[in-house]
Amino acid sequence: MVRPDKDVLVLGAGIIGVCVALHLQRRGKSVLLVDRRAPGEETSYGNAGLIERASVIPYGFPRHIPTLLKYATNRSADVRFRWTYLPKLLPWIARFFIESSSRRLRRAAMDMLPLIERSVTEHTDLMAEAGILDRARRTGWIEAYRTAKAFAAARTAANALDEFGVRYDFLGPQELQAREPHLAGGFAGAVHWLDPATVADPGGLVKDYASLFLRKGGEIVKADASTLAAGEGGWSIRTQGGEVCAREAVVALGPWSDAVYRRLGYRIPLAVKRGYHVHIEPAGDAVLNHPVVDVERGYLLAPMTKGIRLTTGIEFAGRDETPTPVQVDQTEPHARRIFPLGRRVEPTPWMGARPCLPDMRPIIGPAPRHKGLWFAFGHNHHGLTLGPATGRLLAEMMTGEQPFTDPAPYAMSRFG
Ligand SMILES: Cc1cc2nc3c(=O)[nH]c(=O)nc-3n(C[C@H](O)[C@H](O)[C@H](O)COP(=O)(O)OP(=O)(O)OC[C@H]3O[C@@H](n4cnc5c(N)ncnc54)[C@H](O)[C@@H]3O)c2cc1C
Repeated sequence: MVRPDKDVLVLGAGIIGVCVALHLQRRGKSVLLVDRRAPGEETSYGNAGLIERASVIPYGFPRHIPTLLKYATNRSADVRFRWTYLPKLLPWIARFFIESSSRRLRRAAMDMLPLIERSVTEHTDLMAEAGILDRARRTGWIEAYRTAKAFAAARTAANALDEFGVRYDFLGPQELQAREPHLAGGFAGAVHWLDPATVADPGGLVKDYASLFLRKGGEIVKADASTLAAGEGGWSIRTQGGEVCAREAVVALGPWSDAVYRRLGYRIPLAVKRGYHVHIEPAGDAVLNHPVVDVERGYLLAPMTKGIRLTTGIEFAGRDETPTPVQVDQTEPHARRIFPLGRRVEPTPWMGARPCLPDMRPIIGPAPRHKGLWFAFGHNHHGLTLGPATGRLLAEMMTGEQPFTDPAPYAMSRFG
């Protein structure tokens, strides 16, 4: 191989790739960030904007029979299956089911805790450096319950998180009304999670982080990451300006990471949970102060730069199959009943694909059979939350620093 142009190629300019690039740059590495689009325009654009310090227990597969039946018959708006896709997904679902036993879920929670705990402080650190501290709202988010029974169960579940230092308020109907005056009454109660930060434009946040990377001398190039090739002493990629070489490469392609690892012979059970959003104008002078989840109806409303963003739960379908935004159509009428909403901002819902591994942990670490190749993908429901902590951890591993936490739970080797 010719003399390397860079120390590291980071493939993928979503929240994960951009944060990895920034943390490598902080440690003196010259980095080329590679994407086929501009930064932050895929999954990291369309999420709900929660930097989810409170989400300590990963979202496991339900084991409650009535819930399972509801999901199995597509009667629930929060989870939907495309039946033709199910045979392909079955091994993944089976493993996800096994990993969701209460004992294993607790193990996963403990493994994820070091990353989750640092999520807000690591974002604050990058935001401070980028001069965009005002992007973070430090007011948490609200989970609202329609029935007293569901609210009581939620209170028990919240109390169980005390050992993790998670802070929350329980709100009765009047307290909820005080915090969200334009939310229609009728909720039995709510849990207000106080620790998470939220952002009104997650894609804009990634772009700001990418601008910081550029200001500090980083380079971004548009290219197809699947042209990555191993050479003597490093890695190269084809760009419009010719081949670019580096000693090391990081795969941070989110749900498209298979474009690289599969060609290199890795078998990794990466699946996607698709999700949708649509922006709707608030009607009149209605203001939503926090993201609010209507738990029993399975959707979230978040105040965003473009309007109120309604985001949906999970759709199990192939990443590249045609969008079927049934869950938007199912939930929008409920949303209109609880909050004054005007017209849709865009006619067609956005669709994204959460990159998910069945044991609910990402892969962060070296590719076992290829020197100088590193993986950082599979962040499930919490990629926005975990971007900066992932960037720090991987950069520490790559530069021989003492990692802030034991990276073993995120090792690729757990999949053989
Ligand atoms: C509806 C919904 C709501 C969500 N809400 C939240 C939330 O509130 N909080 C939270 O923490 N997380 C949330 N998530 C999850 C979060 O959005 C993801 O985990 C995260 O965005 C993944 O980031 P990433 O950088 O791994 O992937 P991406 O953002 O998808 O980045 C991957 C990049 O790779 C590039 N790429 C792909 N293929 C190629 C190629 N061949 N060549 C070059 N470039 C390529 C893409 O263009 C893209 O920029 C939500 C997800 C959805 C769908």
